[in-house]
Formats: sequence, C-alpha cells, structure tokens
Amino acid sequence: QALQIAIDGPAGAGKSTVAKIVAKQLQLFYLDTGAMYRAIAYKVLKSGVSMEEEARVSQIAKHTEVVLDHSEERTVWCDGEDVTQQIRSPEVSRAVSVVAAYPEVRERLVELQRREAERGGVVMDGRDIGTHVLPKADLKIFLTATPEERAKRRWKELKMAGKDVSFEEVAQDMVQRDREDTEREISPLKPAGDAIILDTTGLSVDELVAKILMLAQE
Ligand code: C5P
Repeated sequence: QALQIAIDGPAGAGKSTVAKIVAKQLQLFYLDTGAMYRAIAYKVLKSGVSMEEEARVSQIAKHTEVVLDHSEERTVWCDGEDVTQQIRSPEVSRAVSVVAAYPEVRERLVELQRREAERGGVVMDGRDIGTHVLPKADLKIFLTATPEERAKRRWKELKMAGKDVSFEEVAQDMVQRDREDTEREISPLKPAGDAIILDTTGLSVDELVAKILMLAQE
C-alpha cells in the first residue's frame, strides 16, 4: 500500500496548512475533504433547497460532481464551476455541518475520497479520516488547539482574504460547528484509537511539520 497519512481535528487546528506542506515534502498528494463537504453545502444554498430537507440534500449530493484540482492552485470545481473562493464564505461555513451529518451525503463523499486514495500516496485532512475513511492509514494525527487560538487563526485567515468579519462571530460559528461535528451520530469528530494527538497551541507551522515528518519516517 502507498503511504497514507490521516490528519483530523476541529476547525482552525491547522490541519490544511500542515497537510499541504507535509504532502509536498513527501511527494504525496493532498486531499482536503472539508472542501468536498463545503462544495455540497454551497450547491444546496445556491439551489434554494432548505438544509433541513435531508432527502433533497442527499439527492443533490448524489448528482453533484466535485473535483479537487491537485495543482498548486487547488481549485475546487463543483459541476464545472470554480467555487474555490465561494466555499470559504461564512454562509457555507455555517451550513456545512448540517449537510455533513446526513449519512447519504457522507457515503457519497467517502466513496470519492477512497477512490482518490487509490491513485497513490496521500495526505488527507478532515474529521473522520483516521476513524473511517482510511482506517489502515500508516500515520494518524489528531490536531488540537485551544478554542481561542483556533478562532484567532481562522479570523486572521479571513482578514487576509479581505473578509470583514468580527472575531466574536468567527469564534461563535466555530464553537457551534465543532459541537455539531462532535455530536453527530455518523462519523463524529474524534481521534482514532491509534491516532497521535498533537496540541498545536503555541507551536509554529515549521515545528509542527517537523514533528509530523519525523513520525512519518518512523
Ligand atoms: O475542514 P473544513 O473546516 O473545511 O470542513 C468543513 C466541514 O465539513 C466540517 O465542519 C465538517 O462538518 C465537515 N467535514 C466532515 N468530515 C470531513 C471533513 C469535513 O464532516 N472528513
């Protein structure tokens, strides 16, 4: 089996930042599974269907083509539309955990994720990679950080992207999303039994990457 690294954890723990660098260093490809759930949430919002309508949302998920580009641009395509920017909006962030709690939505996206993993070595980040998507991954990392630190990182990211949002709003949305991700019945956010839990509070990206690369070489 080609090398598989699973990186899970709550929002703002630094998963995608380190996953991208680790993937590049080890010449594996990187798969941002959150972007897939976001693309479905975006499409549901755009279609005007209520997030609460599980059957209709599941239908939409089944008929949506989500493609993640593996080049440096990391363009996210949803039915041929470039939605890279749109899926990071506060509206999508608020809606995404609702669609992610629907079993049929997950079933469809997990299938796509496993198919991607068959193409070769991969670093995948998400919430259920170690527990469900890649149960046999060679290395499972679960990243955590205090809620304050995570909200601060997310807020800075949004600011840098030119989004005018208050810190309180970002922090509140994040707490809410983590609660929904942790409390859902299907594939809840939690570390796999064999995951290594790393607290990233106060750690630099370089330190974190070095740690993970060391673990990957063991
Ligand atoms: O990682 P990101 O914050 O972009 O993920 C957005 C949302 O997608 C999460 O809050 C969660 O509801 C859902 N998700 C999931 N399982 C994954 C990845 C993301 O349920 N593997």
